[in-house]
Amino acid sequence: MPGTTILIVEDEEPILDLISKYLLAEGFNVITARDGVSALTQARAAHPALIVLDVMLPGMDGLEVCRRIQQESDVYILMLTARTEEIDKIVGLSVGADDYLTKPFSPRELVARVKAILRRSRAAAGAERKEPPDRTLRFDNLIVNPDTREVCFNDAQVELTTREFDLLYALAEYPGRVFNRDQLLERVWGHDFAGIDRVVDVHIGLLRRKLESDAANPTLIQTVRGVGYKFVAKRN
Ligand code: CA
Repeated sequence: MPGTTILIVEDEEPILDLISKYLLAEGFNVITARDGVSALTQARAAHPALIVLDVMLPGMDGLEVCRRIQQESDVYILMLTARTEEIDKIVGLSVGADDYLTKPFSPRELVARVKAILRRSRAAAGAERKEPPDRTLRFDNLIVNPDTREVCFNDAQVELTTREFDLLYALAEYPGRVFNRDQLLERVWGHDFAGIDRVVDVHIGLLRRKLESDAANPTLIQTVRGVGYKFVAKRN
């Protein structure tokens, strides 16, 4: 959280200084504005993560500033108000601030609220990131999904053994790249495999029977004479 930029909007100099001091001490970058119009300018220019926004401001008041900022960004807003009758409006739909504090407030409480909002936002962002990346390989007539270990060829599901699948994935992950038998043995069977490299040829043959319309003239898994094999297809 240190290094996060926070915009403080308050026209009362002593309060502005106090909040700045406490947030700076926590390692936040602090920028300030003393009226609504410069608050909008600052928010647009500096993209703060959070805005501490007083309701009572000269010119455009904090409620209007909050409404406008909410329309153009999803920055978090903590409002300050001296009037409890404004609270419903502040957190309600018409303004939609994320939190509020009533004046007078303790600066420690303000720091705690700021951190709580930022934690919440980070948790939400983290939840989105938890979605695992899609490692599925997609080609014109072939889909290989390593997570479900399903293979779809010409719109039909193909049953592969574990080794067949691993071999296909090893090749299809790098279309056009030539692998020799040792490389394929290591990637699919592992370092400890004590067998012979003939096992690769056998499994290539098995794969071709399942994935080539003419196994004798393969187009998908091609033999590179004297070297090994390559997978040939355009990725979608
Ligand atoms: Ca004020």
